[in-house]
Amino acid sequence: MNIESRLAQIGSQSDPQTGAVSFPIYQSTAFRHPKLGQSTGFDYARTKSPTRSVLEAAAADLENGDAGFACSSGMAALTTIFALFGHGDHLIVSLDLYGGTYRLLERILSRYGITASYVDTNDLDELEACCTGATKAVLIETPTNPLMMITDLAKVADWAKRKGLITIVDNTLLTPFLQRPIELGADIVIHSATKYLAGHNDVLAGLIVTKGQELSEQMAILHNSLGAVLGPQDSWLLMRGLKTLALRMERHQSNSLRIAQWLKEHPAVEEVYHPGLPHHPGYDVQQRQASGNTGIFSFRMKDARTVEPILRHLELIAFAESLGGVESLLTYPAVQTHADIPEEIRRKVGVDDRLLRFSVGIEHVDDLIADLGAAIEAALQEVKGA
Ligand SMILES: *Cc1c(COP(=O)(O)O)cnc(C)c1O
Repeated sequence: MNIESRLAQIGSQSDPQTGAVSFPIYQSTAFRHPKLGQSTGFDYARTKSPTRSVLEAAAADLENGDAGFACSSGMAALTTIFALFGHGDHLIVSLDLYGGTYRLLERILSRYGITASYVDTNDLDELEACCTGATKAVLIETPTNPLMMITDLAKVADWAKRKGLITIVDNTLLTPFLQRPIELGADIVIHSATKYLAGHNDVLAGLIVTKGQELSEQMAILHNSLGAVLGPQDSWLLMRGLKTLALRMERHQSNSLRIAQWLKEHPAVEEVYHPGLPHHPGYDVQQRQASGNTGIFSFRMKDARTVEPILRHLELIAFAESLGGVESLLTYPAVQTHADIPEEIRRKVGVDDRLLRFSVGIEHVDDLIADLGAAIEAALQEVKGA
């Protein structure tokens, strides 16, 4: 069945007792046992909980994996995955990485003796050069955020397989509607479901999907042991959001491409980073491995002095930190999402004081262009007058 139909039907046929089309929220943490040695399949809600189980099965199905795990946030999902590793282990991760993942690796996991190298994961020579006997996994974001760098997933997963490494893909920006890393050879997919999957800037959640029995069993133990699981109310909200994922992603991507094309021609803008623009270095790989583009892109202003007034003059678009919701948000990565990344690394990847990231919502595209256009005009007037 097509993914649009599977999304819309999440949980709709999972409650045969009542026929509830919207799967119920099971708030219970304890489950009665019929007798000694028997269980309904549910014992204690941290281990397994009915509403969360329906969501987890849907996640595994959508990503074409074997098991799904719902966590209390994207960071909780990453923490659970990183618990696969131990003292002395080394990871290779995308250079232009989500700031929170960088902080988790550098501030927390380093204390447990887990180290990471930050490389351009699309460069096999670089991957080869930093791979040692201690390397256990490669963690890829594609596209990266905010610079939208694309990694050829099949190529890297194939390399990792030959090296005996686990391939982990953070698929937050594209969602399984547009890209399914497991089909391209990845072993684990992680999502900040807070973003597109939930989609409404109102629920914090993370998802893990694993491929293969051994990895799925290991992850079940870690998920239950660390306990950073998603509650029943948020599991339900996330399923509700997922039902409209296909429609939302179609609008997010058409809006974002239109605005990126418009900004590309704007005289105050130096560069636009959008993998759907043919001049983007990752354009061909992106066309091949994904069925569309995310609603996120970044652009660099020519003059750093315009940034502050642009953010102040926006009326429809919110100046806020996050992405993937129906409401449009503009983020200033250097001071918000990427503040924890040292300036030298930030500079190296191009997250400077002229870069803005746009999470394009599902509003009418003409209204978004009018709002951003007016804010840029007002900023240019202020800078000229100063
Ligand atoms: C937001 C985000 C995370 C962290 O997820 P939370 O739900 O905020 O904990 C991880 N990876 C990416 C790519 C993200 O955008």
